[in-house]
Amino acid sequence: MKRLIYADHAATTRLDDDAFDAMTPFLRNEFANPSQPYALARTAKKALKDAREVVANAIGAAPDEIFFTSGGTESDNWAVKGTLLASAQKKSVLVSRVEHHAVLRACDDLERLGYPVRYLPVNSQGIVETATLEEQIAQHPTALVSVMTANNEIGSVQPIDALADVAHAHGALFHTDAVQAVGHLPIDVDDLRVDLLSASAHKFNGPKGIGFLYIRRGTKLVPFVSGGGQEAGMRAGTENVAAVVGMAVALKKNLLTLNQSAVRLNELTQALLDGLSRHRIHFIRNGAERSVPGSLSLSFPGHDGEALLHRLDLMGICVSTGAACNHGKTRVSRVLRAIGLDDVASKGTIRISLGNSNSPEDVATIVNALAKILG
Ligand code: PLP
Repeated sequence: MKRLIYADHAATTRLDDDAFDAMTPFLRNEFANPSQPYALARTAKKALKDAREVVANAIGAAPDEIFFTSGGTESDNWAVKGTLLASAQKKSVLVSRVEHHAVLRACDDLERLGYPVRYLPVNSQGIVETATLEEQIAQHPTALVSVMTANNEIGSVQPIDALADVAHAHGALFHTDAVQAVGHLPIDVDDLRVDLLSASAHKFNGPKGIGFLYIRRGTKLVPFVSGGGQEAGMRAGTENVAAVVGMAVALKKNLLTLNQSAVRLNELTQALLDGLSRHRIHFIRNGAERSVPGSLSLSFPGHDGEALLHRLDLMGICVSTGAACNHGKTRVSRVLRAIGLDDVASKGTIRISLGNSNSPEDVATIVNALAKILG
């Protein structure tokens, strides 16, 4: 069988073997509901407590500031809607133009409820400049600013600490969608000075359908799911113990090798770029100087990203396009539009996101495949 090369780690990652092993007891013998008081539930309860500590330590938070959710989408929705619904007046929410749909659609919901939503433009590297935030936030009373830590299409890493300072100086809360960053970049909620931070396990070799929202102590927001008293009464529903355990193991493991992985992935991306140049392939690399290791948004003007993706797929290489697909029609990606890329370059864009499973041989295969298709 042809060996597949998976180069779409920004979409999802393979479940880590140790995480899988740690999860299995909770899918079998340790099935008890952690809320129950009897001895059989003790292991599950302790596992939840330990996992909460691991996750909290990983981002410099306290365990009671970590709330388990079903993933990045839920965490983003909760952060954005939960804070606005908790504020007494209908103040605005300010979000960047390059946010994930999980934030943008949550803002649409708020807009329908009468909350003003305003959008922060980005520069050509996809970065929200602090001066831009200063200017916008001074114009309207703002309850919340939400800017992602790292972009899922182009990998740009935002100056979160500086942006959070601006938000706080104007009395607003600050949320960051760190789904693409947690497990890949060093994250400390105090250094970043954020009030809320979203993360998702499947982006760092944990299981799908689990994530967390960090909520700084004292931050006002309404509970997201009503029901039982789980997650300190803020997010009801019997906990997915196995998934929580798997997430904690995967996160701890990723953090142990964070620096080594970054060096290795930066070398691989450089090798890929050098390879394309050697083959004299014309491309534009999108994004910022500081980006998520392994993340590459490449535009091949005059080519069709969608067609490229399918050609690479036939050669056993999984990548993604920069453009979202809508009912079979390719729309130009709003992120690429926001950074000012023209439609021809945007249409010819693919995202290659390398991860811990990729080798220099994979990179050579990707370069040769692109040279064959584009040459
Ligand atoms: N935010 C960002 C930046 C993402 O890349 C994603 C997933 O692609 C999400 C949110 C949604 O996360 P999840 O798939 O866990 O719901």
